[in-house]
Amino acid sequence: EALLRIAEVDINGGWKVGSPVPYASLANTFSLIEATTKRLEKTSLLTSFFLLVIQRSAKGDSNSLLQAVYLCINRLCPDYVGVELGIGESLLIKAISESTGRSISTLKAELKKEGDLGLVAMNSKNSQKTLFKPKPLTVPFVFTNLREIAQSTGHSSQAKKVSIITKLLAACKDVEAKYIVRSLEGKLRIGNAERTVLVALAHAAILAEKDGKKWSKEKLASRLEEAAGIMKSVYSELPTYDLVIPALLNHGISTLRDTCKLTPGVPLKPMLAKPTKAIGEVLDRFENKHFTCEYKYDGERAQVHRLEDGTIGVFSRNSEDMSKKYPDLVEQLPHCIKPDTKSFVLDAEAVAIEKTTGKLMPFQELSKRKRKDVKVEDIQVRVCLFAFDLLYLNGEPLLRRSLRERRELLRKHFQIVPGEFDFAKYSDGESTDEIQAFLEESVKDGCEGLMVKMLESDASYYEPSRRSVNWLKLKKDYLAGVGDSLDLVVVGGYYGKGKRTNVYGAFLLACYDADAEEYQTICKIGTGFSEEILQAHWDALRPLEMQNPRGDVKVGGAKPDIWFEPKVVWEVLTADLSLSPIYTAAQGLVDERGVSLRFPRFIRARDDKSADDATGPEQIAEMYERQTLAQSRAGKNRGHD
Ligand code: ATP
Repeated sequence: EALLRIAEVDINGGWKVGSPVPYASLANTFSLIEATTKRLEKTSLLTSFFLLVIQRSAKGDSNSLLQAVYLCINRLCPDYVGVELGIGESLLIKAISESTGRSISTLKAELKKEGDLGLVAMNSKNSQKTLFKPKPLTVPFVFTNLREIAQSTGHSSQAKKVSIITKLLAACKDVEAKYIVRSLEGKLRIGNAERTVLVALAHAAILAEKDGKKWSKEKLASRLEEAAGIMKSVYSELPTYDLVIPALLNHGISTLRDTCKLTPGVPLKPMLAKPTKAIGEVLDRFENKHFTCEYKYDGERAQVHRLEDGTIGVFSRNSEDMSKKYPDLVEQLPHCIKPDTKSFVLDAEAVAIEKTTGKLMPFQELSKRKRKDVKVEDIQVRVCLFAFDLLYLNGEPLLRRSLRERRELLRKHFQIVPGEFDFAKYSDGESTDEIQAFLEESVKDGCEGLMVKMLESDASYYEPSRRSVNWLKLKKDYLAGVGDSLDLVVVGGYYGKGKRTNVYGAFLLACYDADAEEYQTICKIGTGFSEEILQAHWDALRPLEMQNPRGDVKVGGAKPDIWFEPKVVWEVLTADLSLSPIYTAAQGLVDERGVSLRFPRFIRARDDKSADDATGPEQIAEMYERQTLAQSRAGKNRGHD
């Protein structure tokens, strides 16, 4: 049925084998996907579209599918290449005005009403009378132009961008303008999570393989399920469609695990840990299993790759290339490599240290560094790399080796260089007293606490991009009963009063729902800021000011004085979570009402996280439920007393 609906999208049968994918077909697919909230329906619509693309691509053409996939996830290349869309509202309004002849003030007024510039662009186009029919847009044409916009820099780039956008808009029909503008904004808002795209790709590959063959229902279902599993695991190891899609089309899905493996140069999404509240909880979870405790260093995650040819790459938690931020690390690294170590991928934490004493310094020291174009001679704080995992060595991925083995290989192939490179300190002691003592030692040495990890068997395999129960974090803060911190996006500001009139005095924060692609408001935060910090927030947020909330902010009853483009991420601690009729975070998960933070406290800005990495509603619901459980237990205990 989905295939039929998508096939109708083949406007006037103009999409022939070997001809470019019509953009109208993609835009109509987006429209159908946007119209449903059901994940399965979204997946089958997308599957059907990808299947058509595969069936109508000429032999050997993997570009059509590649470009279609990139447009579906609103990217133009893999994350680590760093070419991004995210064109500002005023530039887009200018282009819409130039292309449709409507005045900027009319467009702004309409935007205020609609809250979605894509919709404004579509309505403007559709009310415009055109004398001649423009040539239909194609996926390669749109893709190439979007890439040109994203890559153009320099002083004349604004005019160039406006002119390309105007050209694209001039050729738009029906719903096309809506999605082109949203793509340019950097938010497609059709609820197309990356995993939907992966499953749809896998399913489309199976359906293309089946092509007319008679398979039983059971066989088809099991092939689809197996393919989705393969695709997800392959992509977590090699997160680049540039390599996965050609391999999929040329060699099929069943061999994808052999043709696509972890490759130095392509950063994988790091494994993450689950929070725990007490040592007792660690022992409960890891009962009768061997585990290890490591220092949880307070720095920035660094995935270090060395290619066969000796090139070194340093990637952030978000797969951004950090070689330009850490030229000193790149320079230092060869010193710690033993001679028989050729290619590798290290998982590590880059930590600021005091030049003379080698003492660890907190993350704040690192965050003072520029993110780009750092010159070694200008560097004030020294960085030492603390390696805690080895994921690839001399041509071989190690993800499916036990942590004990990976750790042995790490120590065998690298050497300590004081002040430059060290191994994460660990203790394999498994009793409460040993863990407690090691935790205290870690805090004394300037760390955030401990990471507790499974050491043996398949439970200790490295799980890219997963927040896994096989890694637990035990922070000193939890022990004080404060709980885990949240990473929240600043979406609004309240002007200061009294002495603080030249800065924002308070802020509206939001969590991020990756499935719905929306920011959900969670609290107002306004206490505990020093004058200096408020000034820094003013400087960072002022350029992001907007008169209205962006369309993907689910506002609820919050009324800040000014809105911000959702971009800046803060780490925040809270003493308590409560239900709220005003805020929208996790609405519908624990209650009709949203969850909000009481007494939130600002910890630090997280420049290493993007808005999409903010804490999600499920995690907030989980925290709320845990708190309620703890309270009812405490109540019961009191009852017994
Ligand atoms: P946090 O705010 O706690 O850093 P996070 O979401 O960035 O949270 P978590 O999975 O919660 O990531 O915590 C793991 C982080 O701790 C890693 O991303 C890494 O940067 C850091 N870290 C420091 N020491 C270690 C270690 N020994 N093993 C793993 N991660 C470590």
